Formats: sequence, C-alpha cells, structure tokens
Amino acid sequence: MSEAPGIGDSPEIAEIRSAVRQLCGRYGEDYWLALDRERGYPTEFVRELTDAGFLTVLIPEEYGGAGLGVREAAVVMEEVCRSGAHAGACHAQMYVMGSVLRHGSEAQKKQYLPAIAAGDLRLQSFGVTEPTTGTDTTSLKTVARRDGDVYRINGQKVWISRIEHSDLMVLLARTTPRDQVKKKTEGLSAFIVDVQAALGNGLTVRPIESMINHHSCELFFDDLEVPRENLLGEEGQGFKVILDGMNAERILIAAECVGDGLYFIDKASAYATGREVFGRPIGQNQGVQFPIARCYAEVQAAGLMVEKAARLFDAGVPCGAEANMAKMLASEASWHAGDVCMQTHGGFAFAKEYHIERKFRETRLYQIAPISTNLILSYIGEHVLKMPRSF
Ligand SMILES: Cc1cc2nc3c(=O)[nH]c(=O)nc-3n(C[C@H](O)[C@H](O)[C@H](O)COP(=O)(O)OP(=O)(O)OC[C@H]3O[C@@H](n4cnc5c(N)ncnc54)[C@H](O)[C@@H]3O)c2cc1C
Repeated sequence: MSEAPGIGDSPEIAEIRSAVRQLCGRYGEDYWLALDRERGYPTEFVRELTDAGFLTVLIPEEYGGAGLGVREAAVVMEEVCRSGAHAGACHAQMYVMGSVLRHGSEAQKKQYLPAIAAGDLRLQSFGVTEPTTGTDTTSLKTVARRDGDVYRINGQKVWISRIEHSDLMVLLARTTPRDQVKKKTEGLSAFIVDVQAALGNGLTVRPIESMINHHSCELFFDDLEVPRENLLGEEGQGFKVILDGMNAERILIAAECVGDGLYFIDKASAYATGREVFGRPIGQNQGVQFPIARCYAEVQAAGLMVEKAARLFDAGVPCGAEANMAKMLASEASWHAGDVCMQTHGGFAFAKEYHIERKFRETRLYQIAPISTNLILSYIGEHVLKMPRSF
C-alpha cells in the first residue's frame, strides 16, 4: 500500500487510521457496488461508523462526542475513501453538525448534539443549492416568512443529498428581500428542519436519478411551518452560519479525494505489476509507470495542503485560502489518478467487478460540488491575490 500523506501520524492519529481501516475492511468493495446498482444506502456501515465514534469525532466530549479536531476527522474520511467506500453517504454529518455547534443556542446544542453523537438522530442533510440560482447563493429564492411562532417556507431546492436518510436538515432561506438589505449576504437565515415532521406537511422530496449513488433530491416547499425556535443563529445572518461550516467541509472533502487518489494509485500500481503483455509486466514500460508515479506525487502534495488547512482550522485561525486550495488540488489529483488508473487497466477498467469505474464516477463530483474549481480560483484571485472582483 502506498504511504498516506502527512508529516507523520501522531500515535492517536495512527490509532484512528488503523481502526477505521479495520472497520472499512469488513465492508468489501462488492458491498459498495451492490449499493451503487440499487441506489441503496449503507445503513449498517454508517451505524457502525457512528457507534465506533468516528462520525462524531468533532462533537465536543460534553455533548457525547470524541471532541477531536478536523485533522482527525480528515483521517477518518481519507481512510473511508481509500478502502473503496463511498463517503458521500455520511460525510455531511461531520460538517453540518459544526453549524449547530458554533451557532446553535445552548438549548439546541443540548437537544441535538448528544442524540447525534449517540446515533439516535441523523443530521446528514443541508439545503442550499437552488435550480435557478446555483452557485450564486445569495440570490436564492426560497423564502421564510415569520408568522407568529413559526416561519412559513416556500420555494425549491435541488441536489439536496441524503434527505431520505436524515432526521434533520439545515436549510438556508431568505427572510429579508435582497433589495432591502445593505449587503447581499444579509437577510438569509438558517433553520433546523425536522425532516420527518415536514414530509407531507409542506415538504415534498423527489429523488434525482444521477451518475453516482449520492441520494440527491429535489425539494419543494409549500408553506412548510418551521417553529421559531428552530432558527439557527441570528435571523438574517444565516449566510455566516453556512459559510462557517464550509471550510471544514472543504478540508474533509479534500481528505476524501486524497483517499480516492491513494485508492487509484494502489490499484494501478498493483495491476501494472501483475498484468503481463508482450511477455513482461506492463508497469515495466515507463509509459505506464510514470503517469502513476506522477499521480502519487500530486496526491502527496495535495495531502500536505489538506494537513496545513486542517491544522489552521483546529488552531482557530483563518484558513479559507488553504481549505479552498486543498479542495481544488486534491480533487484534481484524485481525478487525475482515477484517469490514470482507468488507462492502466485497459479494457478491464470498464468491468464493474474491478470497481474502478464506480470510484472514477464518484471522485469526479468533487470538481463541481460542493464548490466548483472556477469558484475556488475566483476566491484565490480576488481574496488572496486582491485582483478585481468579477461578480
Ligand atoms: C451529487 C451532488 C450532490 C450535491 N449535494 C448537495 C447538497 O447536499 N446540498 C446542496 O445545497 N447542494 C448540493 N449539491 C449542489 C452543488 O453544490 C452545486 O451543484 C454546485 O455548487 C454548483 O452549482 P450549479 O450546479 O448550480 O452550477 P452553476 O452555478 O450553474 O455553475 C455551472 C458551471 O459554471 C461555472 N460558473 C458559474 N459562475 C461562474 C463564474 N462567475 N465564473 C466562472 N465560472 C462560473 C461553475 O464553476 C460551474 O462549473 C450537490 C450537487 C451534486 C451534483
């Protein structure tokens, strides 16, 4: 197996890595292939990951979690992906929960976090993207109107993942029209929605048939009532609530891409060593060997940026640039490694039983979601390099 990146694991991180690897080893790649075929959800896997405390590492000990940092959480996600699993089924719980932790009232934290840590409540879903506004989040059209003790929600969302397998969703909606606020980021509010109570009572969910098994859905809100106490953070400041969770999300997704990249490299180097054509291993040809070696270097370099971003995040210092760069570099490195892995396997890469085509589809997502490469470049260009704003 190729080396994981990072400047050497601490004993605690090495222990987490080894325990997650063991747990994932009990769910072979055929398990993930079967789920991919039937659009199934890995209920047992998510349960075991939660019971072992790995999905709740970021929840502080006082609320029943492990109270560890994003660095430890990143190692969990890296190992999950490296095993051949599809982390998309569960990763969101880690970072959506962060919004409740940082912006929730004491009552909300007490109500939700211990139950999430115990695995009794699933907070797997967050609703931001809309069909007509996409990346331009502050233009979103879903509205939440105050009516006595409730907010009434009307509008539509798209690509909202795992909602069918979640008890709660953090939802972003506009509470003050855009033309009545000074800054376009104001006037948006975040809500904790009880999904089970909402279904059929103002919330309609329609699954989207898609390229990967990500359980993404369209949502339709028709006068959905959300109690006032479910407002997360201050009214009008929801963009901050969501944004705050985004750095953690980017670092964790980047860690998944590092795991995917190492998965592809392990598979490609093993196949290149074992497969003989023209009387010798194909990996003896440098035209086959060098692309794999290059991918290894790219994944290792991206891994160091993930490590840097995670350390900054855990130290509580700004890490927007590093989190974005980690996400961009790692998603490109994993995609590149997937492509090289496909090429190395020749025609067999297309056979589902080799599993590569599934991972190839899954890792492609990360150049588009949760934020596309162009938007990251625009962040670096404008916020880090101070070049002119384009939007
Ligand atoms: C499988 C899947 C799961 C998802 N899960 C969730 C979820 O759980 N919750 C959620 O809220 N969302 C989710 N999303 C949505 C995802 O975050 C968006 O698809 C993503 O942010 C891009 O938005 P868009 O698809 O509307 O693309 P658009 O905003 O329409 O952009 C299309 C393309 O144009 C480019 N572009 C747009 N504007 C500019 C510009 N100014 N300069 C340069 N390039 C630009 C973009 O980079 C992109 O490549 C998911 C998406 C997928 C595919």
